[in-house]
Amino acid sequence: MRTIEEVWEAVSQIMKNDPDISGVAYDMWLGDITPVAIEGESFVVTIPTVFQRNVIEQQFAGKLTAAIEKAIGLPLALFIRAEDEEQQKAEEDKLDDSLRHDLSSYYKMINPFYTFKTFVVGPTNNFAYATAQSVADKPAGAYNPLFIWGGSGLGKTHLLHAICNEMHLKNRQCKILYATCETFTNEFLVALHGQTLPDFRQKYREVDILLIDDIQFLANKEQTQEEFFNTFEAVKNAGGQVVLTSDRRPNEIATLTDRLKSRFEAGMLADVQPPPIETRILIVQTKADQLHFHLDKNVCDYIARELKTNVRQIEGVINKLHGEYLLNGTIPTERTAEEAIANVRNDNQPVAVTVEKVITEVSRTMDVSVEDLRSKGGNANIKQARKVAAYIIREITKMKMEEIGNEFGGLDHSTISYAYKNVADKMKKDTSFKALVEDIMKNLKIGC
Ligand code: ADP
Ligand code: MG
Repeated sequence: MRTIEEVWEAVSQIMKNDPDISGVAYDMWLGDITPVAIEGESFVVTIPTVFQRNVIEQQFAGKLTAAIEKAIGLPLALFIRAEDEEQQKAEEDKLDDSLRHDLSSYYKMINPFYTFKTFVVGPTNNFAYATAQSVADKPAGAYNPLFIWGGSGLGKTHLLHAICNEMHLKNRQCKILYATCETFTNEFLVALHGQTLPDFRQKYREVDILLIDDIQFLANKEQTQEEFFNTFEAVKNAGGQVVLTSDRRPNEIATLTDRLKSRFEAGMLADVQPPPIETRILIVQTKADQLHFHLDKNVCDYIARELKTNVRQIEGVINKLHGEYLLNGTIPTERTAEEAIANVRNDNQPVAVTVEKVITEVSRTMDVSVEDLRSKGGNANIKQARKVAAYIIREITKMKMEEIGNEFGGLDHSTISYAYKNVADKMKKDTSFKALVEDIMKNLKIGC
């Protein structure tokens, strides 16, 4: 493991080699940066003044983030602390211990780049955007809870952080608590077993705004649901705001208790859907601009045409192309974009998920034995489960149809193609079936 200083040395070298950054600019703006730590998914650095930080965020953030990714091999968010702000903050915090604690946890959790300004608005996310902004302007107003739902990589977490950033900017005293549902669940279980529930409850209930990301993970955990219900009521009754996200709307989270479903449905539901081509082109351009990275129009259009359903993948492709440009000076073309797209699609497939694991998970969830799944024929249940397994294997591994057929007693590739299409069609029509398949896929990804 390299030290943080060594990593920073490599990052500095990449920045110094960048033809767009003059030696003078480097010394003036980047020379004073001190690396501090890698905390969670953030690379934390300090800089003497807020002014320097603002310039770095506006001018160099994209390049720095790309250089960090290249140096470490991980996409980390850059988090810049300004020392003069820390001092000022420390003074404020002397007044109130609990506030200081909140601020430090706030800093760890929130990505400063996820703001309303950096969010590209289009017809499929403008409602969610507007309601999120309205909550940040006037918490505990008309939209409480605000429930943002939609597929992966469509900006739900971004909007949650944007609310936090905006509220924090307006009012430092504001008690903001952002947590993923997993964190909430884990901290609850730890508190339960360690007899520290009062602390847990103080943390989650005595807030002005509580934001819980990916609430669909509450599914199947009754005790946590109970605690969450009480948390939710406590925050709202004390005049606080609640914001939640999920990959589907409340009444489609199969195992959510009815009272939680009805509480969520009673608030403001706002969905994010995959953006249309015009918005995708704008997203590609915006992301490239943020990196000060020039992409020809045809390359922008190509990326936007190819990646239709997930903005995270669009970002991944741009970062890859940018990385290659920084490293080898490769000017992006449709061909290099095509490679980057193939890579990003592959990256999203967890390598460790094997056919075996898929079959075991489908067998467990759909109550069909592994032997039945792996052979030909069987009753309607078995056939259905086999189709689902074939579909998931194809989605996750991108194996060829004939290779998948071999896993099921030598079914031929047209049978597998048919099964794949059949499951895809059924998922479009039947939301609970879709939820089932997606649950299996999520479990597989988490378990690896
Ligand atoms: P989700 O939580 O819905 O899975 P995220 O909020 O994590 O998705 O978004 C994935 C990535 O895509 C983030 O880096 C985010 O900044 C970016 N992103 C998603 N939608 C937009 C958008 N409309 N404008 C700009 N960036 C976006
Ligand atoms: Mg998210």
